Amino acid sequence: MSTTSTDRWPASALEEVELPPLLAALAAATGDRSLVDGELALDPAVRMLPQGGLSPAQLHTGRQRAAAALARLLDDRSPQPPVPVADLVRYLTGEAAAAEVSLPLFEEELAVGGIDPRAPGWHRDQLDAVRPFSVAVIGAGMSGLLVAHRLRQAGIEVTVLEKNADLGGTWHDNTYPGCRVDVHNHLYSYSFDQRDDWPHHFSTQDVLLDYFRSFAERSGVMAHVRFGTDVRSATFDDDTMRWTLELRTPKGDSTVEVDAVISAVGQLNRPKMPAIEGRDRFAGPSWHSARWDHGVDLRGKRVAVIGTGASALQFVPAISGEVADLVVYQRTPPWLGSTPDYHDDVSAGLQWLLDHVDDLGRWYRVWRLWQTFDGTANATVDPAWPASERSVSAANDRVRQAMTAYLEDQFGDRPDLLAKVVPSYPPSAKRGLRDNGAWARTLKLDHVHLVTDPLREITPTGVVTADGVERPADVIIYGTGFEASKFLTPMQVRGRGGVDLHQRWQGDARAYLGMTVPGFPNFFVMYGPNTNLVVHGSITFFSECQSRYILGCVRLLLEGNWRSIECRSDVHDAFNAWVDEANRSMAWGASSVSSWYKNELGRVAQNWPTTLQEYWTRTLSPNRSDFALGR
Ligand code: NAP
Repeated sequence: MSTTSTDRWPASALEEVELPPLLAALAAATGDRSLVDGELALDPAVRMLPQGGLSPAQLHTGRQRAAAALARLLDDRSPQPPVPVADLVRYLTGEAAAAEVSLPLFEEELAVGGIDPRAPGWHRDQLDAVRPFSVAVIGAGMSGLLVAHRLRQAGIEVTVLEKNADLGGTWHDNTYPGCRVDVHNHLYSYSFDQRDDWPHHFSTQDVLLDYFRSFAERSGVMAHVRFGTDVRSATFDDDTMRWTLELRTPKGDSTVEVDAVISAVGQLNRPKMPAIEGRDRFAGPSWHSARWDHGVDLRGKRVAVIGTGASALQFVPAISGEVADLVVYQRTPPWLGSTPDYHDDVSAGLQWLLDHVDDLGRWYRVWRLWQTFDGTANATVDPAWPASERSVSAANDRVRQAMTAYLEDQFGDRPDLLAKVVPSYPPSAKRGLRDNGAWARTLKLDHVHLVTDPLREITPTGVVTADGVERPADVIIYGTGFEASKFLTPMQVRGRGGVDLHQRWQGDARAYLGMTVPGFPNFFVMYGPNTNLVVHGSITFFSECQSRYILGCVRLLLEGNWRSIECRSDVHDAFNAWVDEANRSMAWGASSVSSWYKNELGRVAQNWPTTLQEYWTRTLSPNRSDFALGR
């Protein structure tokens, strides 16, 4: 039997799809468990590889099985006896023991049948709550919209305060050419609001903004967002146990009082401009990547770009075709991970399957989650491994070798460039970036120059490096990242007894589970300290965990008719000691390379140090004894 020659589905479909999730979806849809049996077993050790590392022979068998099942499915769509979802998750995760622990997590992510397992499951009307309860959410980005939706599901009065004129957070701010997400889009989306028609595997900024706008409208959250509303301060009143927020809007200043505050302002929203001598003297236009000046026509211009992080690696290739001359100033090269489909549209064949095989998009999501689920394994320090800036373990060294080979393959014909682009720090010590060849193609262009000499100063007409060479520029673009460790700035937050949160933190932000801080009752943080993900999963997953946990805290308050909930100091401190210890044994904590994962004191204040499973388990519901509750 041919696997592809059919006029019933696009000929290329079965070649273009990742077979493991397709087989799982077909097994679920046809009730045929045998589709995933026997010789198609997956090896978790190679799950990151395309097709989960299935051999050519396995792929052949898998495609034959898929074609037969697809034909049966198209002929007969009557409901079939179900195959337990758990069995299919076990197949996909290929690791029965680990899968057992993670089964509930994956089942939630699947959200088969359009259910929403992470919805609050309670409503304030069912509780014996005697007083009104209102919440202000600060920020209408991915996290803020999500938690507002969850609050509304629980019948809690919520207002979202957004300083911008539109929603979207990072997807509102970053409009630079080439901007797109670098997590598979089936995963970078809400588990309960999945879409089967992502146009790209890694969607562009406009597509993501549309997704979040559409969600805000469909969920009804949009009506509760106050745009153009900048929260200047939040102050807790020890007597009323309520928060007062000072707001600045184009129409004037005002205040609002609420029972609880949720900060959802993100980590990567305050542009970091480099302290380079003479920066203010530059005579031409200049801007940060997150504040792109679309009014300046780059055609024919000499452009200087400072930085080679995630943003620059996206916008440099995108603008290279229009500028006359492009000088890229690199201080530290990034590790690149080969991602051939990074810029690709979802193919017609795959889209056909997504349209015709029930829940395939959901299985795709779980597959993508599983592929990086244990991403920390390759980034964990092996104490027996010789300490160096080369690698932190045998597994980390294997990643180094593979990534070095990729760079050699990309830049082999340009030894001058190759010498500049191979990092001298362990993989995962800084943010690894996706690449489909665009970076090498761009740097090899005749009018593009990669400069690695340190910067000395900026003059009115260009950039001078330490060797005294001035390279003229008409425009300077700063891809220099964000003030990630300055959590919640510039907002002033005063908790119990008027204590200022920033004075308390002294530049070293900490919170329990990234969400609550002793002395700041009824105040919650999303994407707070030590909740950034860098080698696994998707930040939407963490936001869903945080939303559930925060809703759990609100429920505790309402159920017991408490007026305040506040994390205990000993719990907070013990948690942070554990976080620090765990981060020290990760590549980003052990390496001395600078990165935005560390704050100015050198502590890793941004990253979650361990597995997704750990965070999911810890945030399922608040532990009553972790908190002091007050009336
Ligand atoms: P970044 O990763 O912090 O990169 C900043 C770049 O600017 C680095 O190359 C840095 O060099 C350089 N730089 C900073 N100050 C400098 C100075 N004074 N002199 C010379 N070079 C300087 O910032 P980003 O690229 O905006 O990305 C930040 C994060 O945002 C990413 O890691 C990612 O999490 C997120 N992001 C995601 C996407 C996506 O999903 N596709 C896209 C963009 C951003 P050093 O490395 O030497 O410090």
